[in-house]
Amino acid sequence: MFRGILIEKDESGYRAAVKDIDEACLPDGNVTVRVSHSTLNYKDGLAITGKGPVVRKFPMVPGIDLAGVVEESTHPEYQPGDSVLLNGWGVGEGHWGGLAQKARLNGDWLIPLPAQFSPRQAMAIGTAGYTSMLCVLALERHGVKPADGEILVTGAAGGVGSVAIAVLAKLGYSVVAVTGRPQDEEYLKYLGATEVLDRAQFSAPGKPLGRERWAGAVDVVGSHVLANVCATTKYRGVVAACGLAAGMDFPATVAPFILRGVTLAGVDSVMCPRAERLLAWQRLASDLDVEKLEKISREVGLSEAIPLAASLLNGEVRGRIIVDVNQ
Ligand code: NAP
Repeated sequence: MFRGILIEKDESGYRAAVKDIDEACLPDGNVTVRVSHSTLNYKDGLAITGKGPVVRKFPMVPGIDLAGVVEESTHPEYQPGDSVLLNGWGVGEGHWGGLAQKARLNGDWLIPLPAQFSPRQAMAIGTAGYTSMLCVLALERHGVKPADGEILVTGAAGGVGSVAIAVLAKLGYSVVAVTGRPQDEEYLKYLGATEVLDRAQFSAPGKPLGRERWAGAVDVVGSHVLANVCATTKYRGVVAACGLAAGMDFPATVAPFILRGVTLAGVDSVMCPRAERLLAWQRLASDLDVEKLEKISREVGLSEAIPLAASLLNGEVRGRIIVDVNQ
């Protein structure tokens, strides 16, 4: 038996609870991992609360991220005792995930835990932090350099936003944070933001084009915020879009793209090819200060993760939540 969060859905409703689960119930896979830490991402919040159609099979162990040690393996690249890490690939959505003491899965989805990080630190980063790095890589791929000007980060006090600010600041970019939580200004400046703007300035419907200000942006919010960010991005600037915290809609015009040559770069972490994942984790190891990671994250046990899921969706969680699955 092992402990884990189990999501069930039947005629009595949709519910998530910590349960003792029989190992015989683990899904098929060629690697069994003894999980030590997982995390709570926005998507895990949707899965646990049932507020978004994330879970595709029931019962489901949520958790799109995990870190732990290989217990059994028939995969050629992994031996018992190897420290591993997993982000995405539909784990915690269609295949049992990381918010449990054990996981069995396809070894192709794993990557070796980078030597620079403990399992706990890797989960302080998690999918949110790895996605921040994918956004930074997208800005770089499209040629954005620190000398080009300011980079805007929306949803700044959340998981993706916090790590994005820390990484961009370390790389020498001038970072402007957008938040709905002005009380977190000191935290955002500690992470490396030079200026903090109120989310309200971006939330209402805006003009097709506004004053050009941003050389680049990382947007986790979508909807009017993303439209307004594109409308105020400088000539040939780049906006990396990865989230929908305010909505899936994109009420924009093509003006920024056809008149200013703005690039909207979509970022997906779930099916991202292995080579880019490895690059992102390598860059996190070199471009993210571990002491900032401590300030960004806090640790909870499995049962605390359930009520926190709703708080996360309400935008009440600052930074990142690490889940110690043995607590
Ligand atoms: P998170 O920790 O909950 O952060 C989201 C932040 O967005 C909140 O902290 C809040 O920041 C802001 N926000 C929340 N509700 C808002 C609203 N109604 N209007 C405007 N801003 C709002 O979540 P996360 O883990 O960072 O994920 C952020 C988004 O990225 C989510 O939509 C998630 O699904 C997406 N994501 C996508 C990928 C991918 O592969 N594409 C990967 C990871 C995450 P402030 O309080 O600072 O304003």
